[in-house]
Amino acid sequence: MKDSNCIFCKIANGEIPSNTIYEDDNFRVILDNGPATKGHALILPKEHYADLFELSEEAASEVLIVAKKVSEKMKKTLNMDGLNVVQNNGETAGQTVKHFHVHLIPRYENDGQHILWNPTSPSAEELVQVRDTINS
Ligand code: AMP
Ligand code: ZN
Repeated sequence: MKDSNCIFCKIANGEIPSNTIYEDDNFRVILDNGPATKGHALILPKEHYADLFELSEEAASEVLIVAKKVSEKMKKTLNMDGLNVVQNNGETAGQTVKHFHVHLIPRYENDGQHILWNPTSPSAEELVQVRDTINS
């Protein structure tokens, strides 16, 4: 299913031009137009899924293979030192476009970006409680 109001549906299906770095039957990978670093790319399924919760299992099983293929291409062509794979779900988590996408963010020494989180220090009991909640 495509969503006629969704810009990423239009980009993924070629109705709006993009800087495409990979395409197959089910995905298009484009350069982010507000990149964190040089080469920052977005993996877009051609079908509309708002987020990970809506994503089909078929698309889920393919998307990491696409990530791997494109990452390898980036590693060969960009002089990058590392890579963050980021995927946001919900406004609280920083999702601004409600069409599932995976960010591939090449990292360079001293690139000035801060994509990692601040670790906290829960007690062992708190961790057990969280584990039991998720497993309930
Ligand atoms: P998120 O915050 O995870 O929803 O990421 C949305 C990303 O899409 C941001 O990094 C934007 O810079 C990027 N973006 C939004 N519109 C476009 C567009 N038309 N072409 C390329 N990237 C876009
Ligand atoms: Zn869409």
